[in-house]
Amino acid sequence: MDKGNEIMFNNTHKAFLTKTDWDLKRSLWLFTFMKKAGVVKVFSKLTLFAIKVHLPVKAIIKATIFKQFCGGENIVETTEIVDQLKKSNIGSILDYSVEGKETVNDFERTLNEVLKIIDIAKNNHAIPYTCLKLTGIISFSLLEKLNRNEKITTEENEELVIGKKRLNKICESAFKNNVPIYFDAEESWIQDAIDCLAEDMMRAYNKEKAIVLTTLQMYRWDRINYLQVLIKQAKKEHFFIGIKLVRGAYLEKENMRAENLGYKSPIHTNKENTDIDFDKSITLCLENIDIITLCAGTHNEESTMYLITELKRLGIANNHPHVYFSQLYGMSDHISFNLAANGYNITKYLPYGPVKSVIPYLIRRANENTAIAGQMSRELNLLKEEKNRRKEQKLLK
Ligand SMILES: Cc1cc2nc3c(=O)[nH]c(=O)nc-3n(C[C@H](O)[C@H](O)[C@H](O)COP(=O)(O)OP(=O)(O)OC[C@H]3O[C@@H](n4cnc5c(N)ncnc54)[C@H](O)[C@@H]3O)c2cc1C
Repeated sequence: MDKGNEIMFNNTHKAFLTKTDWDLKRSLWLFTFMKKAGVVKVFSKLTLFAIKVHLPVKAIIKATIFKQFCGGENIVETTEIVDQLKKSNIGSILDYSVEGKETVNDFERTLNEVLKIIDIAKNNHAIPYTCLKLTGIISFSLLEKLNRNEKITTEENEELVIGKKRLNKICESAFKNNVPIYFDAEESWIQDAIDCLAEDMMRAYNKEKAIVLTTLQMYRWDRINYLQVLIKQAKKEHFFIGIKLVRGAYLEKENMRAENLGYKSPIHTNKENTDIDFDKSITLCLENIDIITLCAGTHNEESTMYLITELKRLGIANNHPHVYFSQLYGMSDHISFNLAANGYNITKYLPYGPVKSVIPYLIRRANENTAIAGQMSRELNLLKEEKNRRKEQKLLK
């Protein structure tokens, strides 16, 4: 345990142990670049254009932003990072991060890829969970219609039956191989449909433990209420719940759509209320720890400390099998590595996929890192500190 029984997130030696000097330089350069909102906007547009007109930009993207945030172009390429994280007691959540695909072939490819991940994870403790975006196996437009409770055509109904079969195949495999699976949360105008499917799967596969875990975006003002209802349902119907708590990745898009279409935004009007609901949900989950498996998906130091303090207050062990902390690969290593060194359960989402297909994910990361300027300055400072620490050590030798 760190000094005074407190986690020291600023221990840069532990945080960047696995990073080479070159890795540090690349991260420093990228985080400095991403601080400039205007530059990120132009870069995002240029990248999308370059990919569209087949300019040869793949090698540059792969060596820079892709290397920072992704594990590789396929499962095999992620092995090195999975093994490296394992040495520091950090688990990997392999995330086939191909988005925005809409054909049957794409859906079948995602299905097979997730089954492949489960097959690899069943014999590898370094991959304790897997994850899935439901839009990877069922079309966005169909989920949108279901969300609106709109009548669907016979053809769409057939599509839904096939989509549900894919989902069931994945969950059945997760159950049989004991590899729990997170369903990611997406845009609010398809999320009710995703919630219904997630609840059905939890009822079916979470009779003994949480195999299916859903995600709650706490930037939505209705999620605390949803969590309370879900807990009541689970108690009444005797199933376990899996919850990944996040703040939410689609803030701008959500607010813009609500304004354009003239409805009340589902998003809190300020960050403070998002933070309050995030912490409230942590407490609510811990108070029901006998039936809930909780994953705090956050890079926020205050929320992380809040969870640590709540564990202590409620007498729950640091490494309780129902409590996980999780960060995205390439972000907040100072939190992940220092928590792992202090015995907490830590995982990193490790996205992978062909460079071209993970561009939407990369653009989200770049924008998010611009939006959280305060936290990023902290990350930048820690990277600089570690670079200087290494320089001083070399001089002392
Ligand atoms: C392991 C993991 C899994 C994830 N899975 C998902 C997922 O399934 N779905 C998903 O949508 N996201 C997911 N995310 C991303 C997540 O939602 C956040 O975008 C990201 O983690 C930043 O939030 P934070 O808690 O780290 O910290 P912070 O930097 O403290 O918070 C930034 C976030 O606060 C919220 N916020 C900012 N300004 C305002 C405002 N004015 N009003 C209201 N809210 C505001 C936004 O959500 C913003 O992203 C995941 C993140 C992690 C680490």
